[in-house]
Amino acid sequence: MIVKDSAEPTAAVRPIALCEPHLGGNEWLYVKECLDTGWVSSVGSFVDRFEHMIAGFVDAERAVATVNGTAALHVALQLAGVGRDDEVAVSTLTFIAPANTVRYLGAHPVFIDAEPEYWQMDPQRLADFLDTGCRWRGGALRNNVTGRRVVAVLPVHVLGHPCDMDPILEIASKYELKVVEDATESLGARYRNRMLGQLGDAGCFSFNGNKVMTTGGGGMIITRDPAWAARAKYLTTQAKDPGAEYVHREVGYNFRLTNIQAAMGCAQMEQLDRFIARKRSIATKYNAAFQGNGHIVPMREAEWAWSIFWMYTVLLPSVAERRSLHHWLAARGIETRPLWQPLHVSQAHQGSQVFGGGVAERLYERALSLPCSVGLTDDDHDRVLNEIHAWSRTDI
Ligand SMILES: *Cc1c(COP(=O)(O)O)cnc(C)c1O
Repeated sequence: MIVKDSAEPTAAVRPIALCEPHLGGNEWLYVKECLDTGWVSSVGSFVDRFEHMIAGFVDAERAVATVNGTAALHVALQLAGVGRDDEVAVSTLTFIAPANTVRYLGAHPVFIDAEPEYWQMDPQRLADFLDTGCRWRGGALRNNVTGRRVVAVLPVHVLGHPCDMDPILEIASKYELKVVEDATESLGARYRNRMLGQLGDAGCFSFNGNKVMTTGGGGMIITRDPAWAARAKYLTTQAKDPGAEYVHREVGYNFRLTNIQAAMGCAQMEQLDRFIARKRSIATKYNAAFQGNGHIVPMREAEWAWSIFWMYTVLLPSVAERRSLHHWLAARGIETRPLWQPLHVSQAHQGSQVFGGGVAERLYERALSLPCSVGLTDDDHDRVLNEIHAWSRTDI
């Protein structure tokens, strides 16, 4: 009998990851250049190059690199004038980072439900909050319940698909609110043919390992306003005044991206169009396979949207079926993931106000994200689909 090393994966149980990085280009070359030249830290040519590449890609005037996407959001909200005891309207169905950044500034999130079609911030619920939940008092828009000043809207383009931005921008402008887009999951996606991130006053991206492209960890603030960009650079570099001497007029942060990370970013940017094309083709194949499958609602793309399908996600009929499929696939080495607990029910943001919320709660129960790495092979994709079809034929 041949005894196999138990650590050696067999073809049948080789794990398939949910969403892993794809390092297929000049990453080694550019990182080696940093090591060879000694430009490894927070100054260097790759940082500038990466900022220009991102700004060019999303049609923004300026881009400022940051240590991660959360830091980008933190600073972007500060640029928008959010401060202690202010309020910001935030999507409730999202990864928690944007709501946390509101709190870092001493401000409070007001959560806005998702719409049921594309799972993004519901402009109607935002209107409910601003039109009926607030009024002008003392030259500011104030929340009727809390009396606090409402300063900004923070729509989150989740899973690679845009929010319906025109009504959001329109109502924000009506009430003189700043708009900061959390486009961390949706680099390259478009709303009515406009690139996400530069539709509002500022936009943020993340280059964490599971995003469409990665620098290991990293982020970016983009804006059309050169003054905002200059201030973003200032705040993210310890708010040091120009010149040789160390003089500071306010409290800043060390939120810089290193040249090594930016070098990876430049290499990843060279491949981004290909990555997005692959994400879209993975989604197309899933959607075709789920046609006529009574158990599974595939992920949609609005007629006004061009999604990058960053994280391909489906809806199951109930929480029991979502858990059942999750466990079925896990037992077969296939990684899947539920969506985030809606933030209005999260203990971390206990006591926050919410407009709607039931749609996000239902989506949270029913949603499951499926393997969609850029490097997913056709064979692995077929294996995932075969296992899902096998599950569909069982009694759930
Ligand atoms: C990933 C992510 C962030 C922040 O990303 P980090 O780079 O990990 O700090 C913010 N918002 C959303 C919705 C995200 O998915």
